Amino acid sequence: MLLTRTKRRLCTASLDAAAAGSLPLLAIVGAPNAGKSTLYNRLVRTELSARSFRPRALVAPTAGTTRDRMEGESEWLGYRFRVVDTGGIEHFQDKPVSLAARSRWHAPPACPQVLLLVDAKAGAGAAEERLASLLRRLRPVHDPSAGAVLLAANKCDSREARHGMHELWSLGLGEPRLLSALHGVGSAELLDDVVAAMQRREAESTGDAVGKVAVVGRPNVGKSSLLNALLGQERMVVNPVAGTTRDSVACEYEWRGEKLLLIDTAGIRRQAAGGEEREELDRAAVAAARVAISQCHVALLLLDAYQGLTRADLAIAGLVTEQQKSCVIVANKADRLDAAARRAFSDSVRERMPWLDYAPVLHASALTGAGVDEALDTAASALAWRRTKVPKRRLNELFARAQLLRPLPVVRGARLKMQYATQHATESPTFVFRMNRQAEMHPSVVRWVERTLRSHWPFDATPLRLVFKADP
Ligand code: GDP
Repeated sequence: MLLTRTKRRLCTASLDAAAAGSLPLLAIVGAPNAGKSTLYNRLVRTELSARSFRPRALVAPTAGTTRDRMEGESEWLGYRFRVVDTGGIEHFQDKPVSLAARSRWHAPPACPQVLLLVDAKAGAGAAEERLASLLRRLRPVHDPSAGAVLLAANKCDSREARHGMHELWSLGLGEPRLLSALHGVGSAELLDDVVAAMQRREAESTGDAVGKVAVVGRPNVGKSSLLNALLGQERMVVNPVAGTTRDSVACEYEWRGEKLLLIDTAGIRRQAAGGEEREELDRAAVAAARVAISQCHVALLLLDAYQGLTRADLAIAGLVTEQQKSCVIVANKADRLDAAARRAFSDSVRERMPWLDYAPVLHASALTGAGVDEALDTAASALAWRRTKVPKRRLNELFARAQLLRPLPVVRGARLKMQYATQHATESPTFVFRMNRQAEMHPSVVRWVERTLRSHWPFDATPLRLVFKADP
């Protein structure tokens, strides 16, 4: 017993040191015996990395058994976070505010995502109410629904417990999530919500509210010309924004009343010039594009429609898709092409960049300015779609109806069913479909799901990540 406790502390300490400050934190709080340790163990067990520690909390049916703060790492759908089991409500009772301050709970982004776990059978008592009133203060005033607190009703494995769960609305912490930490019921849905909330808070705290548009393309496609057309004299006086690399420069730009950050890699040609080979220039341009793309939400991919596609174009286009960025393909130098040649160029783009099928191809001329506004409008629309959160209820109604019209296939003797769908608040739109069981999804089914989604919410110029999961 002594050895276990010592070992456990060591694990906790090294995890603290390794992960402190880098991964978002989920703090599980609740009354003694609400099931915090069981849930902690379930969450920490979901991690996929074999290298990491898998500390285990001590679980026993006696109230108040877990006294130490336990900390471990978890992962859900590729998103890593730390989990801390706060070790019982008794720690909160004396000086809850000072404890909150010590844990930096007041200060986002260090402020953890809090999960209040209540035993649905026991219901919410005075202790929970006190704790809930403290936790309500952690919610941002401007958006109480997006608060730093989630509420879960544990031990919902019996019917009467589920009844009791409805009383928990009175805690003022929003919808209680139904859970049985012991049997895993509801844990996938809870993890979906935890990760979505963490990602939303992260995006807010990193100032990702300003849309970032990168202008990328190989040398000579017309990036400088396009930026000059947009920025005019301004370009000469803008200050580089901190945090961008020397290969790319970002400047603030206002488009139809909305602030954008334009990331510009046009300077690369002049930096790398000086008798160097074209291939060398191309390599430098692809490297600069990689950085710019990683920083942006939407890539304006410039192509030279007069000259045609090259390997460097394909390389840059590949980077855009690889990083799941929205994309507007600008077929530049349209002033040198007739209608038939433009159509032929669009066809060659579709044929040689099939993976960018979500990106519209717009013909433009940086020289005359034709089509430039439309390209920026499309980029702005992509930015708006990236931020769009589809209401869970409407999403589920859509797929319930769609499955009636077109049932999913029968695989290994049983029909596949989508139990529910949810959108994660990820930087690029991600939809998770909870299935009745684990099965490989046929590409035609995946395409049908995407078409169905886009027929209601077009997500212009934006790739969608679709994940099909069965309960763990
Ligand atoms: P960058 O290397 O991508 O920044 O390309 P530049 O903007 O420097 O343009 C390369 C060359 O293409 C220059 O000679 C431009 O004048 C020319 N160019 C750029 N855009 C257009 C266009 O829309 N039409 C025509 N005809 N020429 C263009």
